[in-house]
Amino acid sequence: MNISIIGSGYVGLVTGTCFAELGNKVICVDNDAAKIKRLKKASVPIYEPGLEDLIKKNIKSKRLFFSADLKSAVRKSEVIFITVGTPSKENGEADLTGIENVARSIAHNMNGYKLIVEKSTVPVETGAWVKRTIDMHNHKKYKFDVASSPEFLREGQAISDFMHPDRIVIGVESGKAKDILLNLYKPLKSAILVTDIKSAELIKHASNSFLAAKISFINAVSNLCEKVGADVAKVAEGMGLDRRINGMFLDAGIGYGGSCFPKDIDAFISISEKLGYDFSLLKEVKNINNAQKINFIEKIQDSLWIVKDKTIAILGLAFKPNTDDIRSAASIDIIRMLQDQGAKIKVYDPCAVNNAKAVLKKVKFCKDSYDAAKGSDCLVVVTEWSEFKELDLVRIKKLLKHPLIIDGRNIYEPIQMKKLGFKYVSIGRAKVV
Ligand code: NAD
Repeated sequence: MNISIIGSGYVGLVTGTCFAELGNKVICVDNDAAKIKRLKKASVPIYEPGLEDLIKKNIKSKRLFFSADLKSAVRKSEVIFITVGTPSKENGEADLTGIENVARSIAHNMNGYKLIVEKSTVPVETGAWVKRTIDMHNHKKYKFDVASSPEFLREGQAISDFMHPDRIVIGVESGKAKDILLNLYKPLKSAILVTDIKSAELIKHASNSFLAAKISFINAVSNLCEKVGADVAKVAEGMGLDRRINGMFLDAGIGYGGSCFPKDIDAFISISEKLGYDFSLLKEVKNINNAQKINFIEKIQDSLWIVKDKTIAILGLAFKPNTDDIRSAASIDIIRMLQDQGAKIKVYDPCAVNNAKAVLKKVKFCKDSYDAAKGSDCLVVVTEWSEFKELDLVRIKKLLKHPLIIDGRNIYEPIQMKKLGFKYVSIGRAKVV
């Protein structure tokens, strides 16, 4: 099939490249001309394991193309995926300006039947708005369908998630749209749920909100564990052994971040309110998540007493391991809160330093964890990169001014840390002194 992907970010690039790998002819479009120029030379602007090789392979096979020319891409394609960003407005609502712009541009450039598929995460009823917009600007009245096919990939393992998804959801209103999408997704051999468009849109927001709720739930439990000296990791393990619950997304820590959960929960609360429903459960999920960051700062304060003029080594900037994405990452808030109290910050992250340099000021970026630890008053773990789990802690202890580790992701074992002579503070587990 001839496919266009409008918006060549994390989702668009992975979607476009994987569809090309499955044998389709794909044009990835973006309105950022510099990004397209780089991509044409197979230089990938984001870090996503395996993506660069797959892009190179499919450019070479002449199945994958990059263009800033939306008009020509639309004219050459029967199926058009919208994968532009849907960030939060100040009031939490999803900003759908990008979606509307793209819908209008598609309508202006139609030259025959088109299937327009929303893959960006959007509030329920966006599909109806996309349809209305295209109708309004499709002056030659070409036939078209709108469909929803929300994306569930996780950054860091996006290619594998796209190629082997737990499920594919397609929301359609016509037999033709259904047949095209079933045919397109057929090689993936995964469960496909066909629904109406509104249900598909709701599935995405409901899924992300549910996962965020699991994280906030275990974080709430972690606070209780701290009060009685229980171990939240054991509590989560015990809960997770129940197949109705399952252990995923039950890791206590400093809360969720990233480019999806915070904004999707805000958007879900906001669209619910607009539709006349107060989704108070989600408001509490968000409150618990915010409080978890403050609790973590308090742990650092309690451990250092005076934060002013102390040097704090932060391990991890990305909102989770295996990505360079720092959008709504807890690290940024934590670093700023510590700087506000006068702390000096040294940081190390395996991938996200370049992105962080654009937003963080007066921070010393280090070449590795040991460099960050050297001469610091404490080490703070913010992202659970596997290389942090494998650090030579004896060496770290020698480099630190004091053997103090405050671990926001519970990556070390308290007993082991005690043996090594650390003061070790983690989440929802007894403090080791
Ligand atoms: P992104 O910011 O990485 O990429 C969006 C791209 O769209 C950018 O390159 C931008 O330049 C381009 N763009 C914006 N307006 C455009 C326009 N009018 N014409 C052409 N290009 C335009 O965002 P992302 O992380 O890929 O997310 C895209 C959507 O997918 C969002 O709705 C997000 O919630 C959803 N999603 C993201 C993930 C994820 O892990 N990142 C997972 C599932 C769903």
